Amino acid sequence: MKIVPYTIGMGDRFSHEGIAQLSAVAQARAAGIAVNPVWNKSHREHTIIGTKPDDVRAEADAAVKALNWTGAYYVDADHIGLKTVDSFLAGSNFFTLDVADFSGQPATDEEIASFVERNAKLTGVLQIPGIDEKIEVSKEQLTGIAKKFLLAILEAGKIYRYVEEKKGKGNFVVEVSVDETDLPQTPVDLLVILAMIAEQGIPAQTIAPKFTGRFNKGVDYVGDPAQFEKEFDQDLAVIAYAVKEFGLPETLKLSVHSGSDKFSLYPIINKLVKKHGSGLHVKTAGTTWLEEVIGLAEAGGEGLVIAKEIYRLALPRYEELVKPYAPVVDIDQAKLPTVGEVEGWDSAAYVAALRHDASEKAYNLHFRQFIHVSFRIAAELGARYTDALKANAEIIARNVTYNLLERHIKPIFQ
Ligand SMILES: [Zn+2]
Repeated sequence: MKIVPYTIGMGDRFSHEGIAQLSAVAQARAAGIAVNPVWNKSHREHTIIGTKPDDVRAEADAAVKALNWTGAYYVDADHIGLKTVDSFLAGSNFFTLDVADFSGQPATDEEIASFVERNAKLTGVLQIPGIDEKIEVSKEQLTGIAKKFLLAILEAGKIYRYVEEKKGKGNFVVEVSVDETDLPQTPVDLLVILAMIAEQGIPAQTIAPKFTGRFNKGVDYVGDPAQFEKEFDQDLAVIAYAVKEFGLPETLKLSVHSGSDKFSLYPIINKLVKKHGSGLHVKTAGTTWLEEVIGLAEAGGEGLVIAKEIYRLALPRYEELVKPYAPVVDIDQAKLPTVGEVEGWDSAAYVAALRHDASEKAYNLHFRQFIHVSFRIAAELGARYTDALKANAEIIARNVTYNLLERHIKPIFQ
């Protein structure tokens, strides 16, 4: 199964926005943007919300049917490992192999030494078309990179072969993700990781490295956009090189995780992807959940009551809610509003604080990140929350579609 060049990863925590999401993609296609949808949900999300991987497949199929979508679409088993993959096997045709837990742990000395020996061609001065600066890799450097990533990619090989045995070769898309790690990967790291992936026989079609800078949930990029631009440009050159040199699939492309709301990077990404003629996958999972809360707040009445209640219940549980997402949020607790302040907000005040509009003075990125990680509270509200989604379906759908189409798909892919 080949992946198409441009794909947008969409998450839907409570499984009510599939049609609103697909509608954004369909409207993009009608406007001439050749992008296809990938619905993704991780094991962690399923566990917190109480959904099952088959629910995502059912939701995607229902949305496709409702809108008569005839293009390719994918259901991504997001961030799975050997321990969590089983329940995803039936419904998924895209598997994101997550081996971040294994990166930073060395393989055995023998495995590392033999990798370095087999890949002596990666040392010395490398000529990579599209990269002007001289790239020189010493044996010590190659050994250092192998120490950091070889064990992780050996694990990815195990997961891949397990899925292949169950699904059949060529019946699914494979992504390898090493994004949830502490240190960003340089273009040279990426090259060596791709050599390892090829050696493992993993037909990876997307690769998610950790880029330089902070990719916090639901908010804009924090880092040096010029450094990001340089590395992203080189990463694209490295991928084209690795496809030829290592025999990886021609469809191999970069995947940007925590990719929603990185508005300051989209013009750079758009320009570079076009320059290289590359494909691109961008995951925007949690942004739809935030649009649900915005829609509820905007609706007023019981919707606004629930939006406030989520915050009132979440704030005392700050540590618990933030902890699992600590590497991907930067919240200054002192800048969060008090529960009393939020109780006093009308619809416009709540929406202004939460919606990602940097030109809005009341926009509060700390509040936004905190609501982003507080979806567990809505899950605990159960039918009270999902009934509110149904009662306010129209206003929420408008927000979900607009956010995906105008703030994400168009600036990234058009
Ligand atoms: Zn990720």
